[in-house]
Amino acid sequence: IICQRHGCEPHRLLQILIDVQEMYCFIPPEAITFIARHLNLPRVNVEGAAGFYSFLSLEPAGRYRVLFSDNVTDRMLGNEELMRHFCNRLWLEPGKVSEDGLISTNFTSCTGMCDQGPTALINGWPVTRLSKERIDLIADLILSKSPVSDWPSTLFEVNDNIRRTDRLLGEPFEPGSAIRATLMRGADATLGELKLSRLRGRGGAGYATADKWTACRDSEGTARYIVCNADEGEPGTFKDRVLLNRYADMVFEGMTVGARLLGSTKGFLYLRGEYQYLLKKLEEVLARRCEARLLGTDILGEPGFDFDIEIHLGAGAYICGEESALIESLEGRRGKPRNRPPYPAQHGYLDQPTVVNNVETFACSAMIAVHGGKWFGETGTWESSGSKILSIAGDCTLPGIYEYPFGVSVREILQDCAAEEAYAVQVGGPSGILVSWKEFERSISFDDLPTAGAFTIFGRGRDILEAVRNYAHFFAHESCGFCTPCRVGTQLQKKLVDKIADGHGTASDLEELKHLGHLMRTMSHCGLGHTAPNPVLDMLEKFPGAYEQKLTSLSFEPAFDLDAALATARRITGRDDPWAHLP
Ligand code: SF4
Repeated sequence: IICQRHGCEPHRLLQILIDVQEMYCFIPPEAITFIARHLNLPRVNVEGAAGFYSFLSLEPAGRYRVLFSDNVTDRMLGNEELMRHFCNRLWLEPGKVSEDGLISTNFTSCTGMCDQGPTALINGWPVTRLSKERIDLIADLILSKSPVSDWPSTLFEVNDNIRRTDRLLGEPFEPGSAIRATLMRGADATLGELKLSRLRGRGGAGYATADKWTACRDSEGTARYIVCNADEGEPGTFKDRVLLNRYADMVFEGMTVGARLLGSTKGFLYLRGEYQYLLKKLEEVLARRCEARLLGTDILGEPGFDFDIEIHLGAGAYICGEESALIESLEGRRGKPRNRPPYPAQHGYLDQPTVVNNVETFACSAMIAVHGGKWFGETGTWESSGSKILSIAGDCTLPGIYEYPFGVSVREILQDCAAEEAYAVQVGGPSGILVSWKEFERSISFDDLPTAGAFTIFGRGRDILEAVRNYAHFFAHESCGFCTPCRVGTQLQKKLVDKIADGHGTASDLEELKHLGHLMRTMSHCGLGHTAPNPVLDMLEKFPGAYEQKLTSLSFEPAFDLDAALATARRITGRDDPWAHLP
C-alpha cells in the first residue's frame, strides 16, 4: 500500500522508507526486499539508502523514540543532565531499546530549536524548554502508553520568537501579489529586477540569484525544476523554521515567480526531517493556494501557467543541505554530493536544469517581484544587498529571530539581544567563523562575516574547547564518507580534540590539527569537508587560552592514561608496589 501510495516510483524511495519507519518503528529486512522488488531497484540500493539517514533505523526502535537535541546550546542548557534524568526515571540506556520494546533514546544533531532549548524529538514531535518537570511528565505519559497525539498540546508549543524585523519580515505581504506583479511586468523584466536587486543566495554561499536563474533558463532540457532547500541543518540555525511557519505564502510565491521566469511546472520543498511537525500546516497552505488559483493549472487565469509544489521530507542528514546531495536525496538515493560541474542549473533533478535556493532566498524573490529590485537594493551594502535574518541563541537574554540590513556589526547585534557578557560568537554555525571579543566591530556581510543565519553566543566563562569539541563530533558524525580526506580527517580531528580536552594533548597534536585542517580544506570533495576544520583552526588562532592549560608536554603523549588503565589489573592481583606502576 505504501509503495502504491507513492506510485511505485524509485525517486520516491526516501518517502516510502519514512512511511515504513513510521509504521513499524524500523525498516524490516522483508520490507527492504519488498520495496526493491516493487520499485525495480537493486536491494542493495534500498538498504544503502535506509542505512544512510539517521532517522531511519534498520534495527527495531522503541514505540516511543526520544531523541535529545545535542547542539552546543543544548549542552549549555544542560541536555546531558536531562538525558540522565530521563534514563534513570525509565531504567534506560542511551542508544538502546528498553527490554519491553517501548522506548528508545539517544542524542541527535541540532533540531533547530536553539532559541527555546533544550529540546527533544518524541516520535518526530519537538518538545522544547525541557526541564526535569517536563521530563517527568513525559516519562509518566510514556509509562501510561498514551499515544503522543493525545499528549497535552502545551508540550509541543514552538514559539517564533521574532524580535526584530526589517525589509522582509516587516512589510505586509498579500498572497498572489508577487505573481500578479510578475505577470504584469513580464518574465524577462522580472528577471531584470532580480538582477537589479543584487540578491545573493541566503544559504551561505552567496551566489547571485539572477545569474543562477538565468543559467537554468538558458540550459537545454525537457523540463525545469524549482527546489526550495528547507533542509536547515547547520547547527544554530532556525530562521527557516519561522519563515515556513509564519511566511509560507511568501516562500511558495517566490518559488512560483521562479517557475514563471524559468518555465518550470514542478517544484519541491525539501523539508528537513526535524521540521516534520510543520508538514501538515504547509500542505494546508499549498491546498489553500491551489483553491485561490495561485498554484495548479492556469495560475491566476493565465493560460499555460502551470506549477505545482510537492513537499519532500528529509530524514536527518546534514549533508543533504548541499544542493547536489539534496538532489540525490530527492531522487531517492543516499545524499552523496555530486561532482561539479555540471551544476544543478544545467543538470540537476532527473538530469534537467534545476534551481536550488534557500527558503529565505525565495522569500526575498517574492518581495523583489512586488517592490522591485531598486527597493530591495537600497538596504544593506553594495556587495550584500537587502537584509539578513539571523537565528540568535546561546548566552543572551533575548534569543530568537532578528532581521538586520547587511552590514550590521556583531557588537550592535549583541546589544540588541542583551548579551552583555559575550566573549565569542560562532557566526554561520560550525562551518562558519568563530569570532573573538576583539573582532566585535566586524559586520554581517558576504565580504566579511557571511552566514546562512546562525549566530551562537558564548559568554565569559564558557569553555570554548568544549564548544569546538561538540562541533568536531558533529562533523565526524555527519561526514557522508564518500571521500577519504573528510571521512578520515573528521574522525582524526575528533579524536585529537578529545585528546586535548581530556588532558592528554601536546604541542605536536596542535601541529597535527593544523596539518589535518589544511588537508581537509584543500582535498575534500564538498563544502562539508572544506569547512569542517573551521572551528578548530579558529580556536587555535584566536583562543590559545582555551587549550594551552590542557596541554601536557611538547612531545608525543598517548591519548589515555596508561597508569590509570592498569588500575584494574592491580586491584585484581592485589599489587600496589612500584613495579606495578609505570615508571
Ligand atoms: Fe562526503 Fe565529506 Fe567528502 Fe563531502 S567532503 S563528499 S561530506 S566525505
